[in-house]
Amino acid sequence: MLCYCGSAIQFNDCCNTYLSGANAAPNAEALMRSRFSAFCLKDPEYLLTTLHKDARAKESKKALIRSFGNTEWRSLKVIRSQQGKSGQQTAEVEFAAFYLEGDAGGQLHERSRFIFEEGRWFYVDGDILPPISLTRNEPCWCGSGRKLKKCHPE
Ligand SMILES: [Zn+2]
Ligand SMILES: [Zn+2]
Repeated sequence: MLCYCGSAIQFNDCCNTYLSGANAAPNAEALMRSRFSAFCLKDPEYLLTTLHKDARAKESKKALIRSFGNTEWRSLKVIRSQQGKSGQQTAEVEFAAFYLEGDAGGQLHERSRFIFEEGRWFYVDGDILPPISLTRNEPCWCGSGRKLKKCHPE
């Protein structure tokens, strides 16, 4: 099967190489994508491991599992990835992640911050931004693989 993160690569050759622990994500965008896949799979362990230690101290497996709720993550659009200027030890990735909750679609548009420490990338935190609009010819947010206009037009 194709990877959850929308890379058009097989899951086993994409995010699963990070989720399985075989490799560390080589950059912030790859880490962000793999964290999205972990949300799709409801994998709290991976989400905790890839969280920066300051944020990890305030998070718990229980709280994460509770936060999964009935949210079904459907697709991801990476809008911008930017390496930090000072020796590339920090990075920002802006993305829109789309989900279904029951019959209602929703979106998380976030600019996330990442830091490189002890040879690995970690998610630090993010700013929530106003929702983006997809154009009619873009892949539908629901993950069907069809164009928006032929799937969930409004
Ligand atoms: Zn992936
Ligand atoms: Zn759709």
